[in-house]
Amino acid sequence: MKNATRIRKPRESKEDRKSRAAKILRGLKRLYPEADCALEHGSALQLLISTILSAQSTDETVNKVAPVLFAKYPTAADLAGAELSDVEEIIHATGFFRQKAKSVTKSCAAIVANHGGEVPDTMDELVQLPGVARKTANVILGTWFKKNDGVVVDTHVGRLAERMAITWRGKDSKDAVKIELDLMEVIPKKSWTYFSHAMIQHGRRVCSARKPDCGDCTLAKLCPSAGAFD
Ligand code: SF4
Repeated sequence: MKNATRIRKPRESKEDRKSRAAKILRGLKRLYPEADCALEHGSALQLLISTILSAQSTDETVNKVAPVLFAKYPTAADLAGAELSDVEEIIHATGFFRQKAKSVTKSCAAIVANHGGEVPDTMDELVQLPGVARKTANVILGTWFKKNDGVVVDTHVGRLAERMAITWRGKDSKDAVKIELDLMEVIPKKSWTYFSHAMIQHGRRVCSARKPDCGDCTLAKLCPSAGAFD
């Protein structure tokens, strides 16, 4: 069993890749039948804010910090009118707190001004909010609104998809939107949200950035980076 020190691309047709992706999906369902968003939330607004706070942070930290913010500023209007310095202080532990505080207050101001204080439920509207790109929008649409409009491509999903060679972007390997398009081609639409959550769990538990545990990975027989096609 090889460890994924080098990403290997198997010679396979698009149909073969699709069929391998379906097997990977089945393997993920066996491993993580209940995979879901790890950010605690009770509304679309809370999920949106927590997702903004989660960039470059951990879900554990966000789950500690966000309730303090929501207790003091329960609505989009409250957050839109909050002092930036106060928001910065509350969310400080999540990192990049100045930029995040701006994104939180400005996106809430836009939600109040353009959507009557309610988080919109379409990709087009969500990505217009300050600090919200496709990844965050996909989290909200898939997790809260239960719409499979796309695949959440965070650092875990992008890394695992490359190692498993169900995307192959070479010099564009950091381009989350291109990776998302590749994944949307090989994963059935109804599973897009589940697939994202399950890949994130597998990235945390088994296929870490620094040391993928290929020896204990039940997906290894489907993964070219573990030598499955050598
Ligand atoms: S998915 Fe499994 S086999 Fe493939 S690189 Fe990650 S840990 Fe190794």
